[in-house]
Amino acid sequence: MTIEFETPKPIAQQQYVLKTVADNMMRPHSRYFDENEHEIPWDYINFMHQAMKASGAGSLAPKEEKKGDTASKKPKHPPIGYQMLAHMLEIISWGDAGMYLVTPGGGLGAAAVQAAGNLEQKKKFLARFTGDKPTFAAMCMTESGSGSDTSSIRATAVLDEATNEWVLNGEKIFVTAGDKALVEREETGKGFIVVWATIDPEAGRAGMRSFIIEAGTPGAKVEKLEHKLGIRASDTATIVLQDCRVPFDHILGKPTVEKTTKGFKGAMATFDATRPLVAAIGMGVARSALEFLKEKLAEEGVEIRYGVARNRLTSIERDVIDMEVMLRSAWLMVLKAVWMADNKKHNALEASMSKVKAGDVGIKITQKAVEIMGPLGYSREFLLEKWFRDAKITDIYEGTGQINRLVVARNLLGYRGSQLR
Ligand SMILES: Cc1cc2nc3c(=O)[nH]c(=O)nc-3n(C[C@H](O)[C@H](O)[C@H](O)COP(=O)(O)OP(=O)(O)OC[C@H]3O[C@@H](n4cnc5c(N)ncnc54)[C@H](O)[C@@H]3O)c2cc1C
Repeated sequence: MTIEFETPKPIAQQQYVLKTVADNMMRPHSRYFDENEHEIPWDYINFMHQAMKASGAGSLAPKEEKKGDTASKKPKHPPIGYQMLAHMLEIISWGDAGMYLVTPGGGLGAAAVQAAGNLEQKKKFLARFTGDKPTFAAMCMTESGSGSDTSSIRATAVLDEATNEWVLNGEKIFVTAGDKALVEREETGKGFIVVWATIDPEAGRAGMRSFIIEAGTPGAKVEKLEHKLGIRASDTATIVLQDCRVPFDHILGKPTVEKTTKGFKGAMATFDATRPLVAAIGMGVARSALEFLKEKLAEEGVEIRYGVARNRLTSIERDVIDMEVMLRSAWLMVLKAVWMADNKKHNALEASMSKVKAGDVGIKITQKAVEIMGPLGYSREFLLEKWFRDAKITDIYEGTGQINRLVVARNLLGYRGSQLR
């Protein structure tokens, strides 16, 4: 199998549409939603919901196969679902990464259902994003004592055999889109959160399973919203679970009380799929900063002379060229990781590599752009200082830079998690 470097046609068509969205629906409102944290950009949300519904992009549920339908088994084109997503996320995040995170649709919650759910669950929960109203899902793994070490979660799920329901207790913090997914609103459809909990605190990873809690379920409450450094248009919630009851079949995967490491593996499979996408979001932010810098330099008559020997270039020219190299190399790593995901190749190594690289590059590029722009880079007159603040998150969520480096090292050296931590 070969990797094509030319952008597939369906992706190129989407890019054009999304650039228009980014230019008109996002950039003009970036500053407002940065300064008015926790205000919800309904115009953008409703527009995106309608657009995704019309284009079919919001449809996540598995397609029903008709009997004897051999054509549906043989795809006409090589699979490009994750590649398409990476390109889309990069462009929308070029528009505004915080606003991207409030784009309606499944987000991380749906990714968890895709990775760990059974067919019935996928049909039931992934079908709801194409309804009349924008609908959200979120993923709740992190707790105050358990972030990087996901196997140490303390939220519990106990089966009440009398009612055949799971009873969940615990507190989840820093849940992206947690408020929109869990709180019932007139403006939104019925969302859900995926909560990772243990069915046996003594069993470590083997006790870890994930559960669907639908919006409005008694016992699940948004306790607070964070005030953040960057991506301030995105809500980041603390969710408290107090005797929260969900039906037995809301446990993702095989509905069973059996202890296996499948639940933990489901979580890791979610990360393999989502880390390159998170990297793509960071790439969009980095590209915004680099393009803006080049535009401003051009306005001042500073030309970047490509192809000239390095010792003849000015310091600014060298910096800009280095930034371009960083951006492109990181993007190639993202493309490889999503291409592997599309072609069902094990991509844990490449997914983490792309996330590490995108986290580093995003911070370096935005910081350098602020530095070269001098006081104007620090001023709120331009969005550059915002992109500098937005960039850091790529290095934190979905596994920090350090944790993804550990994953890379384990994969390269053939160590297990317990052998290299
Ligand atoms: C804006 C935002 C949105 C988020 N969204 C979500 C979400 O939707 N769902 C969700 O579940 N979580 C979410 N998170 C949480 C995020 O995934 C965690 O913050 C992250 O995994 C780090 O965990 P922690 O905060 O507990 O840090 P810790 O694990 O306490 O780490 C603190 C520092 O120590 C380093 N460190 C830890 N262990 C090691 C090690 N073994 N070797 C080297 N260094 C190490 C880390 O890299 C980090 O720098 C979000 C966080 C933020 C800020």
